[in-house]
This record gives sequence, C-alpha cells and structure tokens, in this order.
Amino acid sequence: MRTQFDETIDPALTSWVESANDPATDFPIQNLPFGRFRRNGETDFRIGVAIGDQVLDLRLAKLIDTADMNALMGTGIAARRALRLAISRGLRQGSGRQDVFRNALIAQADVETGVPCRIGDYTDFYTGIHHATTVGKLFRPDNPLLPNYKWVPVGYHGRASSIAASGQRFHRPHGQTSGPEDAAPSLGPSRRMDYELELGIFVAEPNALGEPVAIEAAEERVFGLTLLNDWSARDIQAWEYQPLGPFLAKNFATTVSPWMVTMDALQPFRMPFQRPQGDPEPLPYLDSPANRAAGGVDIRLEVWLQTARMRTAGEPAQLLSSSNYSDAYWTVAQLVAHHTVNGCNLQSGDLLGSGTLSGAGANQGGSLLELSLGGKQALSLANGETRSFLEDGDTVILRGYCERPGFRRIGFGECAGTLLPAR
Ligand code: CA
Repeated sequence: MRTQFDETIDPALTSWVESANDPATDFPIQNLPFGRFRRNGETDFRIGVAIGDQVLDLRLAKLIDTADMNALMGTGIAARRALRLAISRGLRQGSGRQDVFRNALIAQADVETGVPCRIGDYTDFYTGIHHATTVGKLFRPDNPLLPNYKWVPVGYHGRASSIAASGQRFHRPHGQTSGPEDAAPSLGPSRRMDYELELGIFVAEPNALGEPVAIEAAEERVFGLTLLNDWSARDIQAWEYQPLGPFLAKNFATTVSPWMVTMDALQPFRMPFQRPQGDPEPLPYLDSPANRAAGGVDIRLEVWLQTARMRTAGEPAQLLSSSNYSDAYWTVAQLVAHHTVNGCNLQSGDLLGSGTLSGAGANQGGSLLELSLGGKQALSLANGETRSFLEDGDTVILRGYCERPGFRRIGFGECAGTLLPAR
C-alpha cells in the first residue's frame, strides 16, 4: 500500500510537451501510464508512456533496453518507481534530457496501440455489489445476494485469447439459448448482447506456485489499472451459467483500454475502505490497517454509446451512465490476496477484472441488463432510438478519470468496442 506522496504526483509539475499541460488531457505528467504501440508498417510492439497527445518510446529515450512489457512489469517495485521517476524528470519543464526525449516522441494519432502486455491468464471478479444485487433481484427477487457474497471475492477464470485493445470490432456471437417459452434450445445469434463496465487490474511481480501473497504485500504486485469491457451475451449466459458460471456468453470478446495507469499515479485518489454498518468484517487474510485506511480508489467511470445512426448523422456518443470504483465491495489488495491464498501463482501480465461497477442509483447501472431492467424497459436515446440490448453497429465507449482538489486530474483514455452483425 502506498501512503507516501512522491514528487511524480506534485500538482505543480508541468511538461515541455505542451499538450500534457492542457487541463483536459487524460495524460498530464502526473499520470505517465504504460502501454504498447507500433508505428505504421511495424509488426512488433514497442513500450511507451502516454504524455499529452504523444507517446514516449521508452527504448528510444534510452530508459529501457527491452520490448518485453511483461519482463518490465515483473521487475520489483523499486525498479518500477525509479523508471517512473526518470520518465517524470525527463519530461519536466527545463529537463536536461529534452533533446534525447524529443526524438523518442510520436503522436498518439500516428500509432496503433495493442493490449498493454501479453495476458497469460484472465480472472473476472464480481466486486460491484450494486450490480450483483440488481442482477440477483432479476433472478431471485427475495434473495438477491447469495450467502457467500460478503465473505468471498467471487470470481471465475475467463479467457485471455479474445482480449483486445480499444478499437476492437467483433461479430455478434452465435450460441445456444433456451427461453422460458421455448420447447427446446436452439442455436443462433445472441439477441441480448450487453456490455459490462469494469476495471482491469494487471499483475506486476509474479508469486511462486504454493506461496500466497499477504494482503500487506498485495498492492506491490499490481502494475496498474485499465478500463475493461466484459461483453456479455445475456441469453446465452442465462441458459448455460448453472452450475459452473459464465462460459461462451463471455469468452468471444473482451476490450481493455491500452494504457495501464500505475498504482503510483493513483496515490492522491485513494480512499478509506469501509463496509456498511452491520456487514461482516473481512476474514483476517482479507483485512489490514492499510487496506482499511486507503484500500479504495476514487475513479469516476462512464459508459457512452454511439449507435450506427448517430455515427452516420455525425452525432457524438451519448452518456448512458456513470459510477465510481470506490463503491466496489472488495479492494485490489483483497483480490490479489484472495486469488493467491491457496497458492495459485499469478504471473506478470495476468489480468483481473473487477466485475461490473454499478452505483446505487437506478441510472448508475454498469450494463444494459441493469439500465433496461432485464430488457423490460427500453432506454430512450436523444435521437429517438431505444435500446434494451445492443444493436449491430453500436459502439460502446468506457471512460474513467480521477479528480481531487489540490491534485492534477488524470484519466484512463478510452476503451471503445463495436458490435458487428452476426456472420
Ligand atoms: Ca464481468
């Protein structure tokens, strides 16, 4: 857990990269998120840091000597912090390394970003208690939360191969469904396609098989966070999910934003982690003074929708909902401690999904399933269209940012994906 502020988050810092000083940028010098990119015609990805509307190529800037993000992520916290400090000092107003760094800059508009690292394994948790409650009510009105929810950070093993970076375009999946009125199940394109607003948590240093990570050391094993869209086919999910959980309803596509915002950059936005009155305290392996004092993170999250019709008419995306990561029922440190308590070995680059992050309000649902009350009440869009579930051509854009008086605002960039017609 980080509690000491360091010079890299000093709100007074400005950069000689002019666009980084724009108050509206997601990537001021206090952020410095890591990602992978390639230039036109290149096949291999390079490691870069987003700064304003530019990317700093870390190898060209002579800061690292590798193109292997996973190897970089696996170095210890001290080396990672030293690198962040060197990047920050080189990008500051008046830096003596300006000439070397200037030759290592390329416009974000001129690069293609990929998933930020090689993702070996992907686990999706279920930490959004408002999502779990609302969805649970749709299935079990009298008993929305199952008895394990407040004791176990519930999760399942997802699929890494179909995760792609922002800009992902995929076809409406086919699958087996069986509605209450159907005499027998049938195979066809999903008719209840949905998104899920989540955060992605990327593992830094690995732990050896058989050696749990204690909650006190858990956050040092986390490299950073991205936005994550866990696309979901609700009709396939409803038929297949019992008794082993989601399978083909979710493994056809998952989208992440390309820039990993480090835990160091998030320091100013930490919050106490508290359970509502009357809820059980976490078991000791999921509890620590630091986790209580600052386990939460104040990240404002938004879902935007641009339909094909909006795009044709030149209309911008429309905001569907907003919520905050601080409403999550389990913290980042608790997820790592729980995932490894049985000795499971996390690897550098492994991805943990937070689960859908909804707020308490009716308009704060992080999925259409919630916003349309299970498809029973369609949303009205400003252009007259309605949505119960996604339609072909819809682009869903997730955004996230942190703001706090006395600190520089930082953002996550975009996590956009588009649903294409079934093949
Ligand atoms: Ca999910």
